[in-house]
Amino acid sequence: MKFHLHSAIRMAGSAALLLAGSSHAVAADAADTAIEAKIQARKPEIQKIVAEISAKRIEATINKLVSFHTRHTMSDTQSDTTGIGAARRWIKSELERCGAGNLDVQFDSHLHPVDRRIDKPTEIVNVVATLKGTSASDRYYVVSGHYDSRVTDIMNATGFAPGANDDASGTAAVMEMACVMARYKFDANIVFMTVAAEEQGLYGSGHFAQQAREKNLNIAGMFTNDIIGSSRSDTGLVDNKQVRLFAEGVPARKEMPDNIRTLVATGGENDSISRQLARHVKEQGERYVPDFKVTIINRADRYLRGGDHMPFLEQGYAALRFTEPAEDFNHQHQDVRTENGVKIGDLAEYVDFNYTAQVTRVNAAALASLALAPAAPSKVQVRTAKLENATSLVWEANKEADLAGYRIVWRDTTAADWQHAKYVGNVTEFTMDVSKDNVFFGVQAVDKDGNVSPATYPVPLR
Ligand SMILES: [Zn+2]
Repeated sequence: MKFHLHSAIRMAGSAALLLAGSSHAVAADAADTAIEAKIQARKPEIQKIVAEISAKRIEATINKLVSFHTRHTMSDTQSDTTGIGAARRWIKSELERCGAGNLDVQFDSHLHPVDRRIDKPTEIVNVVATLKGTSASDRYYVVSGHYDSRVTDIMNATGFAPGANDDASGTAAVMEMACVMARYKFDANIVFMTVAAEEQGLYGSGHFAQQAREKNLNIAGMFTNDIIGSSRSDTGLVDNKQVRLFAEGVPARKEMPDNIRTLVATGGENDSISRQLARHVKEQGERYVPDFKVTIINRADRYLRGGDHMPFLEQGYAALRFTEPAEDFNHQHQDVRTENGVKIGDLAEYVDFNYTAQVTRVNAAALASLALAPAAPSKVQVRTAKLENATSLVWEANKEADLAGYRIVWRDTTAADWQHAKYVGNVTEFTMDVSKDNVFFGVQAVDKDGNVSPATYPVPLR
């Protein structure tokens, strides 16, 4: 598109579209308005994916997983009906059946030595289903749930450990997404992964994340789904209209790497790669799943708890955790029993399958929109060589063949979500008359269908 820098500079402040349902979107030029409408429109294929997610199938999957009696990491692997071996062979065969011709399904296995929560050398096996992208892109998105389960005693490998919510719910969500999305095409690669040994110390996902880093795998985003089964809190309150999305800001490391130091130095502690991913998931998830809220929690996980996103965070990847709004701890990590008339244990009767399906739809919409969109722009920088109130942003050109151009987004420094956006065309530099000192900027890439990437936070260019 033809691009007039001077008029664009004049317009940038006043004519940029206001996000979030503003009725007074100002017409910039016709091309900008047209692409902005495309960006904000629901994409038909993502709507179809969301509509195909089935609560009935999720229910059947959770009940099947419960039927293995225990999926404890050190449980029996020989039986075809009970124990973790039977469970993972069933998961693999289901994915092979429903994804035939499209999903590449593999066991990712390693032998774990004896340690605090492993009492004999144990084979820890992830089931990894990869949907190859259509472009030459080396970009991956990973979505996971853990299929292992536990009772009160973490070393008890034989007791009845249904793990219906923790985490057959997340496992069923991942399997449902894999089966539905395998029939669609995406630019980027998607890995649908069910992992073991979460309860013993995040060893399954840890092994995958470490291998990924060693191979320098370009994982642009990772979600784990862990305890997404119940909409009822321990007080009995039902809330089936939201899911919590945990997103780390500044990593808690003794040594601060240079990129994190730059983030902190520019006030960007709320603009980490995980927070940018979370904003994208919230926007896209809520676009396709009406009357359902993605509540971003600005921390890595709940107090005293962790999950399979943590090893990915440690390897420097953007990673998020989905969890139901208010947990009932009577139905987690405990021997199945009745105490003072109260039923305790992680049984399927306490799972709300429709709720799990809603969370699965949010995941699928976010994942599909990410895998259809271009990569987030790289090497985004803001010029700071001289003192001025205008903001000049520069970035490296994206490589996708279907790229349309770039969109600059910004928000007040106290705001959680992007408030303004301006499509600037296929350029690698743009000057705004909004001061970099007063707002936070991000740059997104947009393709010809209006699929938009997460934003990249600019670092200073001196
Ligand atoms: Zn769990």
